[in-house]
Amino acid sequence: MSAPRVGVLALQGDTREHLAALREAGADASTVRRRAELDAVDALVIPGGESTAMSHLLREFDLLEPLRARLADGMPAYGSCAGMILLASQILDAGVPGRAAEPLGAIDMAVRRNAFGRQVDSFEEDLEFTGIDGPVHAVFIRAPWVERVGDDVEVLATAGEHIVAVRQGRMLATSFHPEMTGDRRVHKMFVNSLS
Ligand code: GLN
Repeated sequence: MSAPRVGVLALQGDTREHLAALREAGADASTVRRRAELDAVDALVIPGGESTAMSHLLREFDLLEPLRARLADGMPAYGSCAGMILLASQILDAGVPGRAAEPLGAIDMAVRRNAFGRQVDSFEEDLEFTGIDGPVHAVFIRAPWVERVGDDVEVLATAGEHIVAVRQGRMLATSFHPEMTGDRRVHKMFVNSLS
């Protein structure tokens, strides 16, 4: 079987790390900046970065509504950190009106932006992760947490009492950045779910 075509939204953020992680996980990975590139992929990764800047660029590049439509149509997606924020149905502390982060509504959850950021800007922790054997080393950078999940959302990992990884069908999101650690198990989980 041919490798799934997985796009990485490449408007802003750590695109390169996700492309490398996806390729090592067996995907045919490419960048997505334009409508035609979005139309050509089977699934999409939304990287870490800054969710308000990515939202602004999605509007500027006329990608916001096409992306919402593909997600509503069931295109699988994985979001790390800023990507998790964008995949949510509700964003808490989304930013100032007019320049706020845009909820794409792919996962029925409320995500608070910069939630850990107020406590400590960045930290690392080994987490138990449902579906992955052994601890996952998680890097959090001004990270969000999930404050509410809908009935169809499965919690995959928590840090302390806070939800930091979720799955709903073939939508996956983590507050942290597996693309930065060289451990490809989270990307493999996503890529394997596509076939
Ligand atoms: N704080 C960022 C945001 O609001 C997310 C940080 C990250 O992706 N490392 O989008």
